[in-house]
Amino acid sequence: MRINCMCTANIQPATSQRKLLLSVIREAKGHLDAKELYRRASKRNASISLATVYRNLRFFKEQALIDERHFGHTRSCCYEMKRSEEHYHLVCRDCGHVIEFESPLIHKLVAEIRRKNNFDVTRVELCLEGYCHDCKKEEKPLSKVT
Ligand SMILES: [Zn+2]
Ligand SMILES: [Zn+2]
Repeated sequence: MRINCMCTANIQPATSQRKLLLSVIREAKGHLDAKELYRRASKRNASISLATVYRNLRFFKEQALIDERHFGHTRSCCYEMKRSEEHYHLVCRDCGHVIEFESPLIHKLVAEIRRKNNFDVTRVELCLEGYCHDCKKEEKPLSKVT
């Protein structure tokens, strides 16, 4: 007997909980961790569980709908909607404020690294840590990068 082993897990219809979670991430316009996503989503649908949140985050990642980020020294996972343009992050070590930035120089750098190492780069995660405008206590000269 032949068993047709087509995986159906990925073609199940979007549930209302899934739609809700995606719209919470979209409306946040920033970076949410799983617990914050759960807190916001459960206000709108009390039957959502943290397990549902984690399961759907995995699903969204597999479908390339969201990006997972690892900010700061805790390296905790944050999520945001995937965008067509890559962007990068500055994270304040004091208040945790996240600033997004883009730079064409990074594309050049990646292209060079790719060529020199014969390595196919598929994803770039760049996070610079430091102190934001409000937390910067005194004007310190940047230590020389050698
Ligand atoms: Zn700060
Ligand atoms: Zn971002």
